[in-house]
Amino acid sequence: MTDDTLLDRALIRLEEAASHLQIDQDVIEKLKYPRETTKTRLLIRMDDGSRKSFLAWRCRYDDTRGPTKGGIRFHPDSTIEEVETLAFWMTFKCAVMNLPYGGGKGAVRVDPHTLSKTELERLSRAYMQAFATTVGPDRDIPAPDVYTNAMIMGWMADEYNQITGSVSPAVITGKPIALGGSLGRTDATARGGFYLVRHLAQELGLSGSRTVAIQGFGNAGQYFAQLADEDGNKIVAVSDSTGAIHKPDGLDVKRLIEGKTAGRRVADMAAELGATVIPSDDLIAVDAELLVPAALEEMITADNAASIKARVVLELANGPVTSEADKILADKGVVVLPDILANAGGVTVSYFEWVQNRQGFYWDLEEIHARLKKMMEREGRAVWAISQDRSVSVRSAAYIHALGRLATAIEAHGTQPFFAG
Ligand code: GLU
Repeated sequence: MTDDTLLDRALIRLEEAASHLQIDQDVIEKLKYPRETTKTRLLIRMDDGSRKSFLAWRCRYDDTRGPTKGGIRFHPDSTIEEVETLAFWMTFKCAVMNLPYGGGKGAVRVDPHTLSKTELERLSRAYMQAFATTVGPDRDIPAPDVYTNAMIMGWMADEYNQITGSVSPAVITGKPIALGGSLGRTDATARGGFYLVRHLAQELGLSGSRTVAIQGFGNAGQYFAQLADEDGNKIVAVSDSTGAIHKPDGLDVKRLIEGKTAGRRVADMAAELGATVIPSDDLIAVDAELLVPAALEEMITADNAASIKARVVLELANGPVTSEADKILADKGVVVLPDILANAGGVTVSYFEWVQNRQGFYWDLEEIHARLKKMMEREGRAVWAISQDRSVSVRSAAYIHALGRLATAIEAHGTQPFFAG
């Protein structure tokens, strides 16, 4: 057992990409560590009158290319390492997409399902009170992540406006439409991944209708299921944090989403959908051409990667495949479309939201979709071309693509030649 952290493991991808480029050591030195991570405790009043304290963080990993950008996660297992790693990934994600942002991330260690709605509101507002000087439309712009949503972003935006005595919708994205949210933000992560797969379908050997297995049935998983289903694909297996179901001739996605929205677990719906309950761990091994991890980090590891039958893995989650698993998959000829590209649709539409907030002029859904599609296809194509030209994995290509942009920006700020001269 090694004692390396999630961030150490994530940095392997940076070093790998750097080995393909003529990168100044200054660049690597800057990108190896988060710029700042603030840790605090949020003390809130519970409904029964007692007080409870929750650990919370906000990391601004790197702001060379612009204000830091990234979601806030509410999860009982959140740690500082996880927050910093997710912020590192955001730095590269924004660079892959050429968004004028650096990377950030935040979290509260809490299981939000154990809170009432009023407790959740007090916790969300307390987070914004604690980080009111960290965030800002030109400094650090949060958004939703695992177990946070538009309602929570709305509370946070309102809290920020009360603190600053202004109305600054651009401080946070993923807001309700009524408070300056963008059309098309809710399904943007899934939609971006969907556009990417469709655009590269031929190269990936995925032409025609395909079978899909989805691990994790939250925001990204549900919307991806819906988009893929409407496009004529078969969703043959899905899982949530409590179990998995399998139906080789395709699940009724509409009923599945209705059930989930009503608070039910996927495994409890198996009988009525004519599906079989399978162990959660077996989901990744079902017969499907496309496997979509849409849950948490490090779900596909050296222990289970060999069981994957899919031809393509689309990482809608952040960091679901470890670097050991990457090697096993590459040997098997499985193509992994990496998180920093595959799930970048979310932050891309967050960028559109920020732009609309700043200009005070709002776009229709058609325009959002057209712009998202164009950007996913443009950067997806560029990454694909790098992977072909250099005979590297799509992940390495995405890191090379992003690192090139980050290096140019870091060097443009730098004074290295002066000292070297
Ligand atoms: N939490 C999402 C991500 O990991 C979205 C971040 C954002 O919209 O800023 O990409």
